[in-house]
Amino acid sequence: MPPSRRRGFSLPDDCLFCKLYREGDHVAATDGFVAIRDINPQAPVHLLVLPERHVDSFREIGEFPPEEAKRMLEFVADVAAREGLTDYRVAVNVGPTAGQTVFHLHWHIKGGWA
Ligand code: AMP
Ligand code: ZN
Repeated sequence: MPPSRRRGFSLPDDCLFCKLYREGDHVAATDGFVAIRDINPQAPVHLLVLPERHVDSFREIGEFPPEEAKRMLEFVADVAAREGLTDYRVAVNVGPTAGQTVFHLHWHIKGGWA
């Protein structure tokens, strides 16, 4: 598939989360954002929210237009609510020594503890 130019930015072909944005098993989706289940869950419910816009990490959050950043956070909250979570943890690992292993911004949603 050629890189999407829909939003005026390219999708790196070698990025796992760009690939999963395009063709992953999405538990929820809205314009510009999807949620997937983490392949190695660290909680009873462990979801990842992926933006279509590729930035390497949270450090580049300023590359998101304000309206898009707001919608991303609202989508994180919506996904948690749709999964039936009232109490949950939202986390972003920034940089390898903080635990980041995939260099496409993503939001962890963990919950479902009894
Ligand atoms: P981080 O370590 O913060 O970069 O988070 C990356 C997350 O992606 C980890 O929790 C991994 O378990 C998860 N992950 C890696 N590959 C996949 C995949 N193919 N599908 C779903 N989750 C994945
Ligand atoms: Zn990417």
